[in-house]
Amino acid sequence: MNNVALIVQKYGGTSVGSIERIRKVAERVAGVRAAGHHIVVVVSAMAGETNRLFKLASDLSDSPHPRETDVLVATGEQVSAALLSIRLQALGHSTVSFLAHQLKLQTDSNHGNARIRSVDAARLTEAVGSGNIAVVAGYQGVDAKGDITTLGRGASDLTAVALAAALKADACEIYTDVEGVFTADPNICPRAHKLKRISYDEMMEMAGLGAKVLQLRSVELARRYNVPLVVRSSFSDVEGTWVGQEDESMEDVLVSGITLDQNQSKITITGVADRPGLAARIFGPIAEAGIIVDMIIQNASADGRTDVTFTVGRDDLRRALELCRMMAPEIDAAGVRHEDHVAKVSIVGLGMRSHAGIAARTFRVLADEGVNIEMIATSEIKISVVVNAKYGELAMRALHDAFLGEGSNAATAESV
Ligand code: ADP
Ligand code: ASP
Ligand code: MG
Repeated sequence: MNNVALIVQKYGGTSVGSIERIRKVAERVAGVRAAGHHIVVVVSAMAGETNRLFKLASDLSDSPHPRETDVLVATGEQVSAALLSIRLQALGHSTVSFLAHQLKLQTDSNHGNARIRSVDAARLTEAVGSGNIAVVAGYQGVDAKGDITTLGRGASDLTAVALAAALKADACEIYTDVEGVFTADPNICPRAHKLKRISYDEMMEMAGLGAKVLQLRSVELARRYNVPLVVRSSFSDVEGTWVGQEDESMEDVLVSGITLDQNQSKITITGVADRPGLAARIFGPIAEAGIIVDMIIQNASADGRTDVTFTVGRDDLRRALELCRMMAPEIDAAGVRHEDHVAKVSIVGLGMRSHAGIAARTFRVLADEGVNIEMIATSEIKISVVVNAKYGELAMRALHDAFLGEGSNAATAESV
């Protein structure tokens, strides 16, 4: 057969969210197979299932052991893989379903957020080589002891990219409930439009800053192994968004996307004596606890005292606060304050490397909306601001319309 491609497809939770949708996915997969291509399908748990499983554990214990939690939450993907395989067989296809241990998808033992060490593609190669459709449970791995691990929320994307890299697949197609990567979350920002292409670097920034359409580590891995990645809808045949290497035309676009992360909390340690080594004393223990600190601000004041403010993910707030309260007397702090819920809005674009004035324009747009900026961070291709949680969506829409609405650089964005 000519031009036989090897394609890895991944279907997210909504796409396999009901029996009816699993039937639809099976038809799409069967179509690719009928065209003669080799296909590996990675599936997520049915929509809501992973959350349901996490809740069952937390209903029984305040701190369920991560090893046991992984045994529990990994089952969601097992169910989807089996159901899709069953449906494909009912359509007359030969299929084999695989769990992570059957593929030797080896990870470290960091339960709940394990990193992939290696994948043995041999069984998959053999399965597809002999005409089967391989159906793989995403999100899970197995550690050196043989224990079940999971790769982090949203990480079925990562499973798909890892398999595509290991198999040197011709494409890795991520099927989801939107038509591609948009200039902003289309469910929040009605005027967002789909991008035809986006660079790995921009996509990594967007994923890291809250655009959950692709999981961050999956984009990192795709970039490392140069995996051609496309995001598209499982509900239509509309062309999706290609994620790949940067090319010259991409820099012509000033801003590619706006993201909103509503899962951030803010902690302020007040009245700390401003001495060398202070930051190390505060952030050392936090880092040792595996808590990722995002933005940090330190305000020196005239009397030799300073306030240190920083943000952490909401899931880490409780642990971070405990640590801060413990260290407060040691660093002679006046107190520890926190805001449960703040929003981080970010602007991402390769064009920022070569264009000045984006920050100033960002601040102007927010000022015109009456939104107060609490923190600011910039890097080569992004500007992030932290604002009061209740203004997050407003800030996102205002910035979107200013930078990506009609009459801004939207025309350029659409032409890439
Ligand atoms: P899946 O279950 O298929 O993995 P996710 O819910 O993880 O799907 O990701 C898809 C969702 O990502 C969309 O429904 C959308 O609300 C959200 N999203 C956030 N930012 C963007 C963006 N820039 N472009 C497209 N979707 C986005
Ligand atoms: N089911 C997992 C989650 O909800 C993994 C995924 O959907 O990608 O996080
Ligand atoms: Mg996802």
